[in-house]
Amino acid sequence: MRIPFSDFGAVPKPGETWGLNICREAPSTGELSYWAPTGGKFTRIRGIGDLVFVKGRDAAAPVSDVRLEEQGPGAYILRAKTKSPRAVKRDCTSWVQTPGDAVSRKSHPVEVAPGDGHLAIPVTFEATEEGEAKLWFTIQDRETQVTLAYGAYSFQVVLPSEASFSKTVLVPEPKEFKLTEGEFGIDEGTILQTGSDKSEAFIADLIRDEIQTYYGVAIPEAVRDPIEKALLIGRPETSPALRDALDRCGLLGRLKALKPEGYVLVVGPKRVLLAGRDARGTHYAARTFLQLVSGATMEGQVPRALCGTVVDWPDFPFRGYMVSTGGWVSDPVDPDILKEHIRKEIAGYKYNTILWRVKGGYKYERWPRLTHRCALSRDTYRELVRFARAHSIDVMPGINVHGHANWIGLKYPEFREDGDYRTLCTRHPKTYELITDVIEELLDAFDRPKRFHVGLDEVRWQTLNVPEEKRCVRCKGVPKWKLFADHVTRLHGILRARNVEMWMWADMLVRRHNGRAPFDCYKALGLIPKDIVLCNWSASYAPGSCRELEEKGFRVVRGNSREVPLVDAPHVVGNLASFWHSTPWRTITHIGQWGVAMDTAYGANFSWNVNRESISLRRYLRGNDINVLRSLARARLPRARAGCRPVELSSVVNRAVTDEEAGDGKGWADLGPEQDLRALPAGRIVIGPVNFQTVPGGDAASRAVFISSGSGEPVEIPIARRAASLIFLHTLILPADEKGQKAFFKRFLRPPVEVPITNCRVSFTDGKSQQVAICAGREAGNWLPKRNAEYLHHCPYIYRLATEKARRTTPGATDIVLYVYEWPNKTGKEIASIQLSHTGTEADYALLALSTRDVAEGRTP
Ligand SMILES: [Zn+2]
Repeated sequence: MRIPFSDFGAVPKPGETWGLNICREAPSTGELSYWAPTGGKFTRIRGIGDLVFVKGRDAAAPVSDVRLEEQGPGAYILRAKTKSPRAVKRDCTSWVQTPGDAVSRKSHPVEVAPGDGHLAIPVTFEATEEGEAKLWFTIQDRETQVTLAYGAYSFQVVLPSEASFSKTVLVPEPKEFKLTEGEFGIDEGTILQTGSDKSEAFIADLIRDEIQTYYGVAIPEAVRDPIEKALLIGRPETSPALRDALDRCGLLGRLKALKPEGYVLVVGPKRVLLAGRDARGTHYAARTFLQLVSGATMEGQVPRALCGTVVDWPDFPFRGYMVSTGGWVSDPVDPDILKEHIRKEIAGYKYNTILWRVKGGYKYERWPRLTHRCALSRDTYRELVRFARAHSIDVMPGINVHGHANWIGLKYPEFREDGDYRTLCTRHPKTYELITDVIEELLDAFDRPKRFHVGLDEVRWQTLNVPEEKRCVRCKGVPKWKLFADHVTRLHGILRARNVEMWMWADMLVRRHNGRAPFDCYKALGLIPKDIVLCNWSASYAPGSCRELEEKGFRVVRGNSREVPLVDAPHVVGNLASFWHSTPWRTITHIGQWGVAMDTAYGANFSWNVNRESISLRRYLRGNDINVLRSLARARLPRARAGCRPVELSSVVNRAVTDEEAGDGKGWADLGPEQDLRALPAGRIVIGPVNFQTVPGGDAASRAVFISSGSGEPVEIPIARRAASLIFLHTLILPADEKGQKAFFKRFLRPPVEVPITNCRVSFTDGKSQQVAICAGREAGNWLPKRNAEYLHHCPYIYRLATEKARRTTPGATDIVLYVYEWPNKTGKEIASIQLSHTGTEADYALLALSTRDVAEGRTP
């Protein structure tokens, strides 16, 4: 907006001060804001602002090149260039707002020399939380008090990581966990003794399989005498031996008093007690035990668990995890990888229910057009459901049959409401025929589940935008809240007739969220059956809504959330951690970069435990990420030693890690000196237990093996040694331009499910070879990852560095990630060489270091 001075009836002269106020009144939002608060009418003279006119540009001392330099924790210097024709004294005032903190104000006198001057304003603050900090500054002339320059600056506060490779991290964190002296070593003499419940044999197999797979120790199936070392698995009711042992350590009464799914785990040097309050509890005792083993043996080859006692129970009976095989994400799902995900994370982190969003992801028989191209068959679902149940997980199928019903409306247009393909007409004579058939088919495919989720979130009737003649003739005139209530009740009837509990999203019933005007669907709350379970994702939009829904007589689950905060805990039966992602184990998909590996652990932790201290995901990551990752992504190395030996790469490197000029076709990623890998240390790098050796050299020297999407020259790397595994320190360079990115991400829509960037052909000395695919988002990720996309399911370690750009704009932060991927050499043969070749995608691949892990000879001691 421009207002000419003539409108004010005067033209200002240098040195004049005018009174000014600016006000905005927006009746639609109720906003009434002033530039200068007057404490009354905005025209009140007392209190309005000063508009000071100064002469010419030179008097303004332009400030440029503002940057914030880190001096140490919480100590920064704000540097800027300024211009003044003469020496002047100025006062600089800075305000800093740190994350979660109040604003602190500081003043500093500054003397500016004539000509080009440099300002250096010390800025210190104490930050206890990570996040965005804001900094404002003004520079005033000391004599006239005229403001010469001002500016605002925002930057990220990054606190040092609290994670350490030696820390034991359990997911979810047990309620009580005491470590004692000593370790329990697992060897071929260890006995697994189960009780009379069948599910205990499954748990014994789980332990046996993990110990064999990761550590190469075969625990015998038969019980031998005399028993030297044993794991007693079961419940006091199923195993008298376990009962006696618990009694001796005074934990029998404690176990019996625990909440359902609780357990006691006692690890002694000779005996391990894995005792559940119920069958699930026993499974969870085993899960915690296996996490103790993996945490304690990263450096060695003999599996050992730290001795100690765990007494643990979930705060909530429902701990849901969302899986999608249909809906808006239509990536194909590989059932085997999904099984691995169920076993390792969903069951491994003690979630107990999967909400399985199916929608078009099933091969429907009666309404075949609903089936989308990535749909799975009845047999596949049956098998996955059996698999999940064996892992103590209930499965609840889910669809969406009102809003977000595009999977129906696009295929069967006759069911559209008001011509809108996303909304269903609930008064069409055949609507419930279709819905009933779909429910029937899914109940069958999911092997008669106890619960069914019908969606019903974000129903957005188009009535307001649709001309009268295009409105649905059947629903016209009926209030939307009535349509909604009738639909909910009808769906409930269909499910109740089949003895299935109905679950739905709650947002349309929350008055302060989607239940408000114009449709007022909150009115349906009093009309629908009370035994429907409401998944409330409105809690952050409408605080207190969990309590309100509970007070109306419903069971409530926090939905679409990663946690149950203290305020909602008394009003919910659990948490539904929703990851709107069909393949959460893959961090790169056709919609970009979207890593949720750590959210899965965080969500598990705060579905099991109330988040009493409001621990944010960021804070959780700072303390735990590398430990969660190394246990999640560790390679299966049954015959390996801890020792690593670097492979010499100096004869094969072909690319500098620096880049002098952007877009000249040379240098690291060709993004210029601000965004390159110059921070890569030369020589030895230790990442967790792995030694690497990078190639040293000057700035422009080649230090990386770069497999470029352009030239496509394969690179042969001599190895000539026996190795239990190859350990890569590598990264991907995704295309920087939008077109290239689009083309790259599009590849994830097409089967095969994973997108290999580099093929690594491993040649053995016997003349044979094996292909290893390095896939985007699994074995290697983006060197500048977005969101939490650096946590890959096949990379147990990551190494972080910073570009110059990150250093300048976000002191203390890192933006570069290098990934450690360990490929297990299951052949046991001597490796002659590897050859890396590009697969023809738009992404480049770079290997910065390579090591081999030593082979363990013979039996583990
Ligand atoms: Zn209708």
